[in-house]
Amino acid sequence: MTDAIPTGWEAVIGLEVHAQLLTRGKMFCRCGADYAAAAPNTRVCPVCLGLPGALPVINRKAIELTIRTGLALGSEIADFTRFDRKNYFYPDLMKGYQISQYEFPLCVGGRLPFVFGGEDRTAGITRVHLEEDTAKHSDRDGEGGAFSLIDVNRAGVPLIEIVGEPDLRAPDEAREYLRALRGILRYIGASTGNMDEGALRCDANVSVRRHEQSTYGTKVEIKNMNSFRSVSSAVAFEIGRQIAIIEAGGSITQETRGWDDTRGVTVGQRSKEYAHDYRYFPEPDLPPIRPSATWVNEIRQAMPELPAARRRRYVQELGLSPYDAALLSGEREYAEFFDAAIQECSNAKGVANWMNGDLRRLLGERTIEESAISPGSLASLVKLVDGGEVNRGQAQAIIEVLCQRGGDAAEIAHERGFRQVSDESAIGAAIEAAIAGNPKSVADFRAGRSQAMGFLVGQVMKAMRGHANPAVVNRLLSERLSRSD
Ligand code: ADP
Ligand code: ZN
Ligand code: MG
Repeated sequence: MTDAIPTGWEAVIGLEVHAQLLTRGKMFCRCGADYAAAAPNTRVCPVCLGLPGALPVINRKAIELTIRTGLALGSEIADFTRFDRKNYFYPDLMKGYQISQYEFPLCVGGRLPFVFGGEDRTAGITRVHLEEDTAKHSDRDGEGGAFSLIDVNRAGVPLIEIVGEPDLRAPDEAREYLRALRGILRYIGASTGNMDEGALRCDANVSVRRHEQSTYGTKVEIKNMNSFRSVSSAVAFEIGRQIAIIEAGGSITQETRGWDDTRGVTVGQRSKEYAHDYRYFPEPDLPPIRPSATWVNEIRQAMPELPAARRRRYVQELGLSPYDAALLSGEREYAEFFDAAIQECSNAKGVANWMNGDLRRLLGERTIEESAISPGSLASLVKLVDGGEVNRGQAQAIIEVLCQRGGDAAEIAHERGFRQVSDESAIGAAIEAAIAGNPKSVADFRAGRSQAMGFLVGQVMKAMRGHANPAVVNRLLSERLSRSD
C-alpha cells in the first residue's frame, strides 16, 4: 500500500490515458502501424512525414475500435464527430499539428467499473477521442556534441485518449482504475495495453483539498509514468508534496511535472498550456463522420463478455468470492482459461484456487499463454485431487511440470509414482513405527503440547515418501494418540 493521506486532507485524482489501437495500418495513411518491430524510418510516407500536399484518409478500423471502447465504457457514441487540428511545434510532430478531436469527440460520458479494496467501484469517463501518435525523438551525446534522433515510424499510429472524471481519491485507487481500463482494452482487442512498450500511457492530474473545502484545489499534471507501480508512487509523492506546500503557507501552481522513477520524485517541466494555446480549428482535409445506428449496433453485438459482467457471473452462478472472481476476470486470457477448465471439471472453486494460488505464483511475470499448461490439464489435476488420488504436495509438483512442459496430469502422476495411499493398514503401520521411534514427541503431545502432533504427521509422511493421504494420516494418528497404550 502507498502512504496514507493525512487526516483532514483529501486527494482528487483524474487520469488521462492514451492507448495505441491494434490496427494494421496507421490512422491516416497505409503505412504499417508495427512501428517498433521495424527498422527506424521504414514505416513512412508523404502523409505521415507531413509533406505539403499529402492528404490523410481515415482508417475505418480505428473508428470501430474507438466505438468498441466507448461501448465497453458505457459512453454515448456521437452521431456526429469530426477531427480538429491541434497546433504546436515540437521536433517529433512532423506536420506542426496533430490531428485530434476537440469539440466533437467520438464517445462522450460513461463509467469505468473496477474493484478497489475488495469493493466494487465505478469512476466517471468524460470522453474518448481519437488522434494520432507522434514520432519518436531521442537526445544523444556524441563525440561532436549532443544530437537528436527522430524515428518517424510511430508518427500517425492511431491513439485514443480516455479522459477520466476527477473521481479517484487515493494513489492505489488510481492504479486499480488504470488496471481495469487496460483489462477492458485488452478484452475488446482495442490495444495491447503494454505500458513498457508505450502502447498504454497515463497522465495523472492531482490536487488536494482540506476536508471542509467544497471546491477542488489547483491541479498538477504528472507525466512519464510507465508502470502501474509508478502511477501510484507518483500520485502518492505528488499528494505529499502539495500538502506540504499548502501547510507551509504556500500555494500550488498549475503545471506539468514529470515523474523521475529513479529518484522517486516529480519534477517541474513546464507551466500548463491551455486550449487556446493550441489554436484548434476543424481539420479541413477530412470529412466529418456520422456513425450509423446500424453500424454501432453491429459493433455492440460483436462485443465479448466484459470483466465486470464476468465477475458478477463468477460470484452469482459459480459461488466464487468477489476477490477470486476479480482476480480471475481481470485479464481475458486468464478468464477464458478458467472458463475452459470448468467446462471439464465442475469444481469451479477448486479450479479458481489453483489459478489464483499456485498457478499465479508459478507464472510470475509470464502470461498464461506463455506457459505450457492447458485448461484441460488443470481440470484433470483438480479431479485427481478431488478423487483423493494425489495429495496436495504431489499436486503441487504436478502443476509445476504442467507449467514447464505441459502434458497430462494423470500421466505425470503415474510417471512420478504418485499414488496417494489411503489404505489404512499401510498408514497404520507407519504410524506405529513413528510412535515407537519418537517416544518424546508422544509424551509431549500427551502433556498438552499439540505441536508434537505436526511433527509425528511429518514422520509418517516421510516414511511413506509423501504418498500418504494427509487427511487419513491425521485422523488415524489422533485416534491412535488418544488411546493410552
Ligand atoms: P484541462 O482543461 O486542464 O484539460 P480538464 O478539466 O479537461 O482540464 O481535465 C483534465 C483531466 O484533469 C481530467 O482527467 C480530469 O478528471 C482531471 N481534473 C480536472 N480537475 C481536477 C482537479 N481539480 N484535481 C485533479 N484532477 C482534475
Ligand atoms: Zn504513412
Ligand atoms: Mg481538457
